[in-house]
Amino acid sequence: MTFQSLMPGATVGIIGGGQLGRMLAMAAARLGYRTIVLEPQADCPAAQVANSQIVAPYDSPLALAELANLCDVVTYEFENVPVEAALMLANNVTVFPPAKALEVAQDRLSEKTFLNAAGIGTADFRAVDSQSDLEAALSAFGGRGVLKTRRLGYDGKGQRVYKGPEDSPAGGFEALGGVPLILESFVAFEREISVIAARGTDGSIACYDPAENVHLNGILHTSTLPATIGAETVKAAFSAAAKLLEALDYVGVIGIEFFALPDGSLIANEIAPRVHNSGHWTEAACVVSQFEQHIRAVCGLPLGDPARHSDCVMTNLIGHDMDDLPRWLAQKNTLVHLYGKAEARPGRKMGHVTSLK
Ligand code: AMP
Repeated sequence: MTFQSLMPGATVGIIGGGQLGRMLAMAAARLGYRTIVLEPQADCPAAQVANSQIVAPYDSPLALAELANLCDVVTYEFENVPVEAALMLANNVTVFPPAKALEVAQDRLSEKTFLNAAGIGTADFRAVDSQSDLEAALSAFGGRGVLKTRRLGYDGKGQRVYKGPEDSPAGGFEALGGVPLILESFVAFEREISVIAARGTDGSIACYDPAENVHLNGILHTSTLPATIGAETVKAAFSAAAKLLEALDYVGVIGIEFFALPDGSLIANEIAPRVHNSGHWTEAACVVSQFEQHIRAVCGLPLGDPARHSDCVMTNLIGHDMDDLPRWLAQKNTLVHLYGKAEARPGRKMGHVTSLK
């Protein structure tokens, strides 16, 4: 299918109304596009800054038909958009990134299988659909591994680490809800990095520099640029990103998380077919942010320059981290970005700050 570039004035639909949708809508507005958000929760962070909102479930056929009718292109801000909804939409309007990316990313088993087929290394893994599968898989990995739900896991939720034969597998399958699981071999990584990359409708690819990520309680805490990795590792991350984007015939921004091993080699952990929290730094340290890059890509515009003009640290403001706001506001060379969420509940992403070095 050929896609005509959309000129400013066109309308971009965004499925999902969280902070990522909000930042996409702001970037779209800056390029002169209109945005419509599909999200069941009224007055969500994205709707506060978009042109309008359709308040309905993501899989409502009526709402999807309305969205297709009103928009020139539709994108999404989270990877758990029902694949059927994306396919239904795609009959009537262009959907970027392609529904295939959702299908691959929604299940850790298909994700790892797809990555391996594209020539990108991951941890060893086994599907675990029963307690006896778990016991067999753990014994194949010497008793060590990370057991994860295959679907709907995020921010480290739905996981259990087995440190060695002393950790009994008894009851492990049921403890994660009796749902399909995956056991991954334990990766003794040195650091965690991620790459935010984009592919345009013309097939061009742009990669932002890898960020080094630190998590706290399973949630991203900081992303630091540059990452403490060598030039060969950076090259390997870019090469993996390009392979993945091409294998998916992708259009838009994608986030890829890697484990960096002591020898500098990389193991892909997870992909997110959307803008990504570990790419928020780009709004302060690059001329074209990941959000603008995504809007450019899905509207068929040329990709922007991903070059980084400054070193920086992005820090998430989670829950009561908001108490530190006065300190961040007083800090020089610091961009504060808040998401318009009323209540600072524990674990809730309220905003982020990026300090240039
Ligand atoms: P994930 O939900 O896959 O991003 O996993 C959450 C966190 O658990 C990661 O950021 C890692 O710190 C850790 N982790 C996940 N998988 C593995 C693995 N196979 N080996 C070692 N640590 C892991």
